[in-house]
Formats: sequence, structure tokens, C-alpha cells
Amino acid sequence: MKKHKEKMQCIQATKMIPGFIDGELSYKELEQFMEHIEECESCREELSIQFLVEVGLNSLEAGNTFDLQEELNEALEEARKRVKIYRVFRQGIFILECIGIAAVLLAALLLILNFAG
Ligand SMILES: [Zn+2]
Repeated sequence: MKKHKEKMQCIQATKMIPGFIDGELSYKELEQFMEHIEECESCREELSIQFLVEVGLNSLEAGNTFDLQEELNEALEEARKRVKIYRVFRQGIFILECIGIAAVLLAALLLILNFAG
């Protein structure tokens, strides 16, 4: 419950739906959006309605068959993958930073030992 304040609110999530459908969310936004969508039933419903209107109608106009649930699942799966890559990437940067700091400390230590000796 204490993490509640950090969680994205439905209003914010709903505003991001068109961006999600158009693939215009940044990785950070996408991560927050997906976290909310995974656990918020009403926003998932809102997403599927807007997805149907945006993607479904275009698809039908173009004469293609359209399976809402499958198309939506695919879009969500794709988003999950992107969030995962983003997290790995961010973790990689964090590890590199740690290695960088460790290298600087080691160099400083060697320098001090050198002067001390
Ligand atoms: Zn919500």
C-alpha cells in the first residue's frame, strides 16, 4: 500500500492510450503505462475499446480481417518486450556506472599507495 502514491493514476494512463496505440510513448512512459495496464481492469477495458476504434476500424476499412483480442494481445506482448529490453539496458548502464566508479576508486587507491610507498 505504501507504493500506492508512486503508481500511475487511471487518468494519466487513459491519456496515454492513444500514444500507446500509435507507438509514440517513450520507454519510460511505456513502462509506467504497462505497469498500470497489467493490474487495472478498467484501463485495460478502455484500451481495448480505443484499440478497436483506432486499429480495428482502419483494418476493416482496408478490407482486412481483424481479431481484436489477438491484435491487442500482440500489441501488449510487443510492449512488454520493449519494457523488458529497456529494463535490461538501464540495468546494464547501472552496472557500467558501478564498474566505472570502482575503477576510479581503484585508480585513486593505487595512486595513494604509490605516493605512500
Ligand atoms: Zn486504471
